[in-house]
Amino acid sequence: MTDTAIRCDACPVMCVIKPGLTGACDRYANDGGILTRTDPHLFIGDQITAIGAGTTYPDYKPAPFIVSAEIDGVDMITVVTEGIFSYCGAKIKVDTDRHLGLERAAIRAGGEVVGHVTTAEYGSQMLSLGGVHHLTGSGKKSGRITCETVLRLCNGEAVELSIENGATLIAQAGAPPVINGVPEQKMRVGCGSATIGMFAQQWRGLVDEVVVVDDHITGILSEHQAGKLLEIPETGILVRGRRSTPGRYFEVAAPGTGWGGTDLTDPLQILGPFNKKHARPGLTMLMVSTTGEHAAYFVLDEFLRPQPRPMPPTLVEAVALIKENCEPALCSVLFMAGAGGSLRAGVTTNPVLLTNAVAAAITRVTCGGAPVYIWPGGGITFMVDVTKLPKNAFGYVPTPALVAPVEFTMPRAAYERLGGHMADVRQLRDLSRDRASPSHPPSPVMPAQAAGAAPGIHDLP
Ligand code: SF4
Repeated sequence: MTDTAIRCDACPVMCVIKPGLTGACDRYANDGGILTRTDPHLFIGDQITAIGAGTTYPDYKPAPFIVSAEIDGVDMITVVTEGIFSYCGAKIKVDTDRHLGLERAAIRAGGEVVGHVTTAEYGSQMLSLGGVHHLTGSGKKSGRITCETVLRLCNGEAVELSIENGATLIAQAGAPPVINGVPEQKMRVGCGSATIGMFAQQWRGLVDEVVVVDDHITGILSEHQAGKLLEIPETGILVRGRRSTPGRYFEVAAPGTGWGGTDLTDPLQILGPFNKKHARPGLTMLMVSTTGEHAAYFVLDEFLRPQPRPMPPTLVEAVALIKENCEPALCSVLFMAGAGGSLRAGVTTNPVLLTNAVAAAITRVTCGGAPVYIWPGGGITFMVDVTKLPKNAFGYVPTPALVAPVEFTMPRAAYERLGGHMADVRQLRDLSRDRASPSHPPSPVMPAQAAGAAPGIHDLP
């Protein structure tokens, strides 16, 4: 045991840590004078992961663990490190047709801008959080809150986000989004046109007209190609909106949290007067949203005005079928980061060879043991579903940056060809499974430095 403070050299912050305390990120502690990674180093089955493995800094030092093991008769090397990522963020897919905010609208957490709304996908709103500009280019407080927000999301926690001129959202990986305080139930079955494409045949004979209200494409059965092929007669319906192709209308209303992701509370607002040439008193019409959450049944009166009526049981079933085909709404969180920088030097003395080996699929990249998607093109830019990692696999350092586990696995011969750190290769079987040991010896500090050290609170370099 010693009462001497030690310096952590696992990241640029270089904390001075007094005995029994942890550094600013809580990942390293002074345990009796030994610099100790506070979380256990995690193995999944026989596989070594980088979770809890530690970080080396600067990166020319070999990665914390470079291990050799025979896999299916092939001598494989796995290099593991907890990489420090300034270029990283989270992409969030929110399964909902409700309007969360306009594309490019700022997203705030704790009052700070941490990202923006990006291009919507089929049935989902997409958010982009973090990134180097928010982490390091928008002021200290903004960087800290951005880092904390992305970290919590990646570690599976719920975070509250507020979208400029839009909704408030509680997002959590693998959980339903909570929009303006209401948990979302269902992801839409498709756009209005797709809904008609799916169910037109089942509706034939039950009702004269079906309008599927959707913020993207509102579908009209009698005009739609599906209706034409099924020989559904014209109904004289008039839809206010921008006609794209027969039976498919854009912009019938403003986006919102009402019917089909529009701001409609009364669907009849999107209809003009029925054309007397085709309409008749007694004509029946179902109006339904793309999740089946909203539905109403109307019958034209003698003046050809739609009047609400109780929905016949057969149509109740038809609406239930739409609902049944909607998947549960979830938030998905992908961590995205660039491992193509100096981190590579901990793997090889010739970093570009690692990049080439990853691109050529000679080297497999995983994140905490989870499979990643590597973007084509330069660098090693990867994405990983955070729910595939054990909880709390991510960390941070106060530069600010996120810490994420990353493993590179390849045949021994390929590792040698890359210029790998062969002298640092250890046998997997020699590693204790419950280790929580230092990856490198502690750096002693002068007593004067130790006296002024305030563990956990440090100015950034
Ligand atoms: S922030 Fe963490 S990793 Fe960085 S020097 Fe301090 S204790 Fe070590």
